[in-house]
Amino acid sequence: MKRLMSINRDLNIQVSSRATNFLMPKNIYLPISSLEENYIKNDNVKKDEILFKNNNKLFFSPISGKIKGIYKKQYLVIANNYKEEKISKTRLKIDNINKLKEIINKYANPLNFLFDKYSNKTLYYVAFVDDPYDVSLEFFINDYKNEILDVLDILRQLLHMDNVKIILKDTNTLSIDNFNMILGMYPFISLMCVPDKYPIGDLEILKDYVSLDGALVIKGQELKILIDIIINNSYNGKTYVTLSGKDIKTPQVIKTIIGTSLKEIISELNILVNTDMVYVNGFLKGHKEKIDDVIITDDISLLFFLNEEKEETPCINCGKCILVCPKGCEPILNKKMDNCLHCGLCSYVCPSHINFGKER
Ligand code: SF4
Ligand code: SF4
Repeated sequence: MKRLMSINRDLNIQVSSRATNFLMPKNIYLPISSLEENYIKNDNVKKDEILFKNNNKLFFSPISGKIKGIYKKQYLVIANNYKEEKISKTRLKIDNINKLKEIINKYANPLNFLFDKYSNKTLYYVAFVDDPYDVSLEFFINDYKNEILDVLDILRQLLHMDNVKIILKDTNTLSIDNFNMILGMYPFISLMCVPDKYPIGDLEILKDYVSLDGALVIKGQELKILIDIIINNSYNGKTYVTLSGKDIKTPQVIKTIIGTSLKEIISELNILVNTDMVYVNGFLKGHKEKIDDVIITDDISLLFFLNEEKEETPCINCGKCILVCPKGCEPILNKKMDNCLHCGLCSYVCPSHINFGKER
């Protein structure tokens, strides 16, 4: 079993108990490549209208509004006209695998792995995230527990799985209580807990604790997309993002629309922050970006505000970066790095603040 670490959390940093909604942004930014500019035919768009295709994935307008133009050659900008029609959407009826294949191919083709062949007949849902400051998924579970269990049960039946196991950390008490309240209605779904050690969320590491060989594994964010499509019959998800760190006055979770700019969230909600840079997805694994450049995407769940520059000094050969590595890499010697998970632990423990580079 690999060595893992408990990350000491600063207990002075606590998020508010309720998520703040920010669902009416002035502008939405959708990632494009230059080719897609040609696909956009109309200036005025309606919510859920297909705008373009990128890497085989369809992009829908999350709001109704007017196309303003291209921002930094990277984003198509839509100005909100706040005229969304209130359509009461009904749940999609998916009663066979071909129907499921059809909607996933059309709306969420990164999930095509669901249809691979799996020798293990348990479907695992990883319902936690690794970063100790990221509580977005717990808020999502709190709001969508019924839908999560419904979708997992639909998948179990359509994919001919025997049962579903939801994996949580033993410290995720809110999520454990939330699921336990209603689990009695789902005889084929059960919970299992793993220790709150870092980086246990990486599947390579999780395999030491849970028999994942040959198994279908779905992770937190991926289920969100399915809930949007199957239950809400909508293709532009809302998302939960934790705003945390020493340099934000009121750490909190924001429920917002994918494509909203962080700058607008901060300014419209009058959030006081003491820095102009933020760690996107946390300081362990994430990267630092200017607040003004951050657009909320479906792979951002934590924004950590920390105005702290630690100067890199020469290595003192303490060996901590080697000792702490869960994959047996030797970062300071640049040896055995093929196994690196980019978990950031080596940089985190280094007394000389050497940054080994975290992102994959
Ligand atoms: S070398 Fe890679 S896997 Fe090892 S601690 Fe550093 S980032 Fe993590
Ligand atoms: S932890 Fe930092 S100071 Fe210690 S050996 Fe590794 S690089 Fe050098």
